[in-house]
Amino acid sequence: MISPPVLEVRKLCREFPAGEGTIHALKDVDLTIRSGEMVAIVGQSGSGKSTLMNILGCLDRPTSGVYSVGGRETSELGPDELAELRREHFGFIFQRYHLLGDLSAAANVEVPAVYAGLKPYERRKRSQDLLDRLGLGLRTGHRPGQLSGGQQQRVSIARALMNGGEIVLADEPTGALDTTSGAEVMRILKGLHAAGHTVIIVTHDPDVAEHCDRVIEIRDGVIVNDRAGAGRGETMNDPLPSPRIVRQSGMAAVLDSLGEAFTMAILAMKSHRLRTFLTMLGIIIGIASVVCVVALGEGSRQKVLANISAIGTNTLEIMPGSGFGDLRSGRVRTLVVGDAEALAKESYVDSVTPTVSSSVTARAGATAATATVNGVGDHYFRVKGLSLAQGRLFDAGDVSRLDQVIVIDQNSLKTFFPNGQAVGEVLLLGDVPARIIGITAKSGSSFGGNTDSLNIYMPYTAVNARMLGTQTLRSVTVRVKDTADSKAAEDAVTTLLQERHGTKDFFIINTDEIRQTITATTTTMTLLISAIAVISLIVGGIGVMNIMLVSVTERTSEIGVRMAVGARQRDILQQFLIEAILVCLLGGVLGISTALGFGVIFSLFSTDFTLVYSPVSIVAAVVCSTLIGVVFGFLPARNAARLDPVTALARD
Ligand code: ADP
Ligand code: MG
Repeated sequence: MISPPVLEVRKLCREFPAGEGTIHALKDVDLTIRSGEMVAIVGQSGSGKSTLMNILGCLDRPTSGVYSVGGRETSELGPDELAELRREHFGFIFQRYHLLGDLSAAANVEVPAVYAGLKPYERRKRSQDLLDRLGLGLRTGHRPGQLSGGQQQRVSIARALMNGGEIVLADEPTGALDTTSGAEVMRILKGLHAAGHTVIIVTHDPDVAEHCDRVIEIRDGVIVNDRAGAGRGETMNDPLPSPRIVRQSGMAAVLDSLGEAFTMAILAMKSHRLRTFLTMLGIIIGIASVVCVVALGEGSRQKVLANISAIGTNTLEIMPGSGFGDLRSGRVRTLVVGDAEALAKESYVDSVTPTVSSSVTARAGATAATATVNGVGDHYFRVKGLSLAQGRLFDAGDVSRLDQVIVIDQNSLKTFFPNGQAVGEVLLLGDVPARIIGITAKSGSSFGGNTDSLNIYMPYTAVNARMLGTQTLRSVTVRVKDTADSKAAEDAVTTLLQERHGTKDFFIINTDEIRQTITATTTTMTLLISAIAVISLIVGGIGVMNIMLVSVTERTSEIGVRMAVGARQRDILQQFLIEAILVCLLGGVLGISTALGFGVIFSLFSTDFTLVYSPVSIVAAVVCSTLIGVVFGFLPARNAARLDPVTALARD
């Protein structure tokens, strides 16, 4: 019975460009190989055997002519369909084994099954079975570098059989082996033939050819002889197990292939630790500086805002003169209590407190010191956000009665009453006695004030009447209602006072404006420094791209091997992309850790100022580094995926 043809070649030519002219490696080759045949292709070096073998294995395409596999014309198949043919039907054995050096023997054998979507358990079992049968059961965990040539070739035979290997293509399988190992390989190949596999062996050795049933001789790209062989030699009588391909369903297969790509990426990174770290350095510095800068900006903004809110929310401070440093301001006497009363009646005003101040020598017993007496209204404490530690604050009654009662701050308490007992005592302010009724708590704010000065608060009516003898005020502080717009309120106050005074002899400090200005300034700073950090991230990304391009070049033959055993273009793309993303992501995580570490060190040196890390900036940093991986890894990964299997394999 004659079995059906599996491989059919008609008028096949393969030309290579070489300098000016072309090399005709194969000329009008006609060949039919039937299922189950054991064929040797012999000829001298350079006669075109490997070229023919590569075309038969769908690693290379003919320049002209027709080649069909199982009746399907290969010229009509796309790269992924050719990959499928290689994966499901062919098994390759190369002269130089072409094993992946980073993987163990078992993992090397499993590679084709990974691309075929075999379940991890099934493929582990099958690779173990195959290696057992080929006498390598105890060496499954060894790397190719730890195996002899003959053992490596047996690993590569196991790999060829992993997905079935219905058609085994062996290019000089014994070429690099000693006689004993070579004979062993031939015995296995004959066993495969006996088990029903189609076996095609390329060799320059006539002795090897005589093991086969059919010998095709090729000279200068032309078939010169096609005869029966002697079929000599021993046969391995134990047929190898035929595969039970249990494929996984969609999602599981995708996850599994991602997992494999992940493992490969880790292996590649581990085998080039220093290079990987240097590549990451750009990303680490970039991410760390982005996170730190944002945290610094946020920390300083919060600090400043805390200071501002200590002066009171949304207040307008009206002062005489044209601005700070106006030398005449001390002589402008037009800001009076009447102004404060008029302002208090306005609809947008929450509360008003007039202030006057006087510097006096205060005395208690034998202690004397210079203190600032702040003449203020009863709303003052609320407007300024001052809280009470002991006693009480003065009220509207105290103000209207011109009572000589005072509230003192913590500095004054320490200076005059170190024992802490002050409420009810009398303090002599110049020659005016005043009874202490309360003590303020320590204010958190140092904004615009001197932390060492002694502050004493007294109803402004009393200060004016008893100490200054005037109705003019140093300033009026207006607390604007929360519902009112502070800018509109400022305009309304200006109009009102201008009418009363007939001229603009005052100026207004709007805390809301200060807050906005400071917020805007810190935001601008953060943006500016972030921009610099982003530039360093881009530089880091270019570094990643550079290294990935090197990695692709360095691993071209690995890519060739993966393609030969049936990896699709997207498998290769995925593998290199995952590697790039992993490098960047790891860089990102290290960068964030560096930034957090910096925060810890910073907090050791600075007590009242902390870095405030925003989760948003950290998440953004991680997303950003992943994106860098994708963007800058894509080009090298695509280059790798688009490599021609035969060119990739040829590079070593
Ligand atoms: P063999 O395997 O029989 O030793 P090959 O098939 O490798 O021979 O080569 C056949 C001819 O084609 C040789 O002359 C070789 O120089 C040429 N050749 C093979 N591959 C290429 C290539 N990629 N580019 C240019 N010439 C090539
Ligand atoms: Mg060759």
